[in-house]
Amino acid sequence: MNRPTLLLNPGPVTLSERVRNALLREDQCHREPEFAELMLDIKARLSRLYPQAAAEFDAVVMTGSGTCAVEAMIASLAPTKGRTLIVSNGVYGERISAMLEMMGRPAAEVRCDWLSEMDLTAVAMQLSADPQISHVVAVHNETTTGRLNDIEPLADLCRQHDAYLMLDAVSSFGAEAIDFSHPNLLAVAATSNKCLHAIVGCAFVMVRKRVFEERKSQANTLYLDLFSYHQAQQEGFSPFTQATHSCFALQEALMELDESGGWQARRDRYRTLSGRIRNHLNALGIPCLLAREAYSSMITSFGLPEGWRYPDLHDRLCSKGFVIYAGQGALYHDMFRICNMGDIRDEDLLRLFDCLTAILD
Ligand SMILES: *Cc1c(COP(=O)(O)O)cnc(C)c1O
Repeated sequence: MNRPTLLLNPGPVTLSERVRNALLREDQCHREPEFAELMLDIKARLSRLYPQAAAEFDAVVMTGSGTCAVEAMIASLAPTKGRTLIVSNGVYGERISAMLEMMGRPAAEVRCDWLSEMDLTAVAMQLSADPQISHVVAVHNETTTGRLNDIEPLADLCRQHDAYLMLDAVSSFGAEAIDFSHPNLLAVAATSNKCLHAIVGCAFVMVRKRVFEERKSQANTLYLDLFSYHQAQQEGFSPFTQATHSCFALQEALMELDESGGWQARRDRYRTLSGRIRNHLNALGIPCLLAREAYSSMITSFGLPEGWRYPDLHDRLCSKGFVIYAGQGALYHDMFRICNMGDIRDEDLLRLFDCLTAILD
């Protein structure tokens, strides 16, 4: 079979045939009971994916890309009284700072170098120095570099200082460990079109259930208010039109994930693929930007090979059917990224390696 152009960018991903075919289901109205049933099934599947989340967390599903989920989480849960500490080491963490600033929410920041780990010493100092900080927010898998941030010690600092933790897990949910049993974890934002292998259009936030009983929404936006979605979605409905076809794809993708062994099996598969990618590129003299053990299972940042500009490398690979991804910001001229989410097969990687070897020769 001829393979489609392979997306080796961090979402949207190359779809499996099964998920693509789900888009052909009969059209549905989002106000009809069969759609409500579909939505309840998606919510149940999202909560079950991490068994520890099932009892304590509720999935709130919205229409949008990953940023929609993150912004809804921040708008609805970052307090107007009290302060939110953002710990960032890349584009996506800094984007959360920009959100808080635009919303005019009290915020503090530990902004780290994009190539560095989160500075937990600085976080501990801030938390000690400023008892107003009641919430901490961080990015789980910082897509800028592919670093899987170490959330456990951050969550423990939150526990010591009685602060809640919110996570942007947009590029890790469904394929990396997330400790939903941690008592300080408040909410986790994610999307349909990265590790879950569905199409763009469904954004969701896993929210600790008792939040909806104990708190008032902090949202200063109608559309991004998680509380109103949560209320309506108890019955499977939503305050606004949902991306119905994206929901078909998400349900199918969640069934596929479940049948293939859940998030651990997906992580194992990703580790196999990314391990091969790293080995092959390193052997061609293309270095990883970070220490190998720092990476998540599905995103790798590489230094550009000697004498190459990113657009040339991109265009050569694109003409062979592989879409790679540029570096962002100050790293644009130095790096590129290869991701291995989506329906990527062993033979796809062999073709990629052949192409790379030929191009660099
Ligand atoms: C992809 C991504 C987002 C959201 O980006 P969109 O372009 O809105 O999908 C947010 N955070 C991280 C870590 C991401 O990888």
